[in-house]
Formats: sequence, structure tokens, C-alpha cells
Amino acid sequence: MAPAADRMTAADLTRARALLGMSTGELAAEIGLTEPVVRAWEEGSLRIPREYAMQIVWRAAVAERQAALASSGLPECTWVARWMDAAPTQGGPAQRQHLEALRRHAAMCPHCTARARFVEQNFPPMPDPPVPQALRALRAMGTALQRLPQWLRAAVVGAIAVGLITVMRVAGMAVGSDGPSPLDALLLIAGSIVGGAYLGAVAGITYVIVRDPLRKIGRAGDYLAGILCVWAYLLASVIPMELLTGRPAFATPDDAAALALGGAVIGAIIGHFWFRRR
Ligand SMILES: [Zn+2]
Repeated sequence: MAPAADRMTAADLTRARALLGMSTGELAAEIGLTEPVVRAWEEGSLRIPREYAMQIVWRAAVAERQAALASSGLPECTWVARWMDAAPTQGGPAQRQHLEALRRHAAMCPHCTARARFVEQNFPPMPDPPVPQALRALRAMGTALQRLPQWLRAAVVGAIAVGLITVMRVAGMAVGSDGPSPLDALLLIAGSIVGGAYLGAVAGITYVIVRDPLRKIGRAGDYLAGILCVWAYLLASVIPMELLTGRPAFATPDDAAALALGGAVIGAIIGHFWFRRR
């Protein structure tokens, strides 16, 4: 059985390499390293980095299943062989369509379902696919976000977005020399994260309140939901400003009308691209 990537030992690596049927030199070339590195891993004198362990574990798991399938006597699927030859060279929509075709085929093909059942019965689920660390962190964050209630999700996204914008602005201000002191810069970033969370939460709560009732009026409701969320967001940013500074937020009623109109346009755009049913 292929070892886990988390705690890949030298012996695990030797076993995985045997499953792959590769020499140390071939494996090194395959993962873009030099042979002495792979040999040091197998002698136990060098720790195997997780990134590489994941890659090797994944490949060994695939090879192990392929070998078992080959000796199982189950017929190969000629459709899949043709499908592999027709793989598009570029990513994007073509590749998505290609994968979708395989999924549709595999659900109905007796050969493919028999092979899938064989793998399921004889092997544990596949290990995590090897993806770059940054992508893994992003994906984990996305999954965590999906579990939050909708209004809280909006708060978190708002905090991250406004916090990031402030970090970029502070970074452009040359902290220390003639810009803000490091402490002021930190306070600015922390303040923007709190402010962003508050504004995001207001927009998110508005969404939760208005979305379902507005669904009943169809397409117009999608746009109206976007506009109401943006208006709530704008009001939530204007009112505390007025309370804190004691000055009216708008010099003239025209200013307020201009902001409301601008907000309505942005809200309609959000409604069109995010809320509209597909
Ligand atoms: Zn098939």
C-alpha cells in the first residue's frame, strides 16, 4: 500500500519507488531534482519535504491502482483510451468540457463502473492530490468560508478585502520616513479589518434578510437585492462617520443623491453578476 505523505519515511519512499518501477535517477528526473537528493532521502540522511512526498505518494497510488487493474482481468475501456488521446493541450473551458465528458461517460459505462468498483473494493480513497502549498491554503480557506452562515461569510470577506487594500496603501506610503509610524500603520490596518468586517456583516445581513422575499419577483429581485445590499453598506459607512465627526456626511442633498445613484449602479452590477440565477 502507498504510504501517507504526512510522515513519509525512507522505507516508504523505497516502497513507493518500487510501485512506480523507477530507479532513483528516474524518480529524481521525474520530480525535477538531482539523483543525490533522492538517494539521501532513501538513506534517511535528508528529510523528505511534504511537497515532494505528496507528489510521490500520489503517483505511487495511481501506479498501484493501474497495476492492480491491469492484472484484474477486467476489460479496458476503449472510450477512455480515445478520450486520453484527445486531451486538449490548453486549460480553460476546453479542458473542463473534456473532464465533464469523462464524468458523464464513467457514470454510464459498464466497463468503467466495474473498474471503479474494483478500485473502491481493493484500495482506500486516493491521497490528497499534489497541489502547490499556496493553493492548498486558499482551498482550505474557501472550504472553511463555505461552512460559515452567509452574513458571517460576507463579514469575513469584507474584513479580508478592506484589510488587504489598506495593507497595500500602507505599503505604498513608505512607513517611518515621512509616512505613518509603524505603530500608526499597524493601527490603520487593524482598524480597516474591523471596519471591513463591520461593513461586510451589514451587507451580508441585508442579503440574508432581503434575498428570499425578493426571489419571488424574479429577475428584478436579483437586481434589487444587489442595490439594497450596497445601499445598506453605504449607509453603514456614512452614519458612524457623521456620529464620530459631528459633521454632516453630505454638504448638499445632491451629494447624497449622487451617492445613492452610484450605489444603485454598483448594486445592479452585483445583482447581475452575483445574484442572478444561472
Ligand atoms: Zn468506459
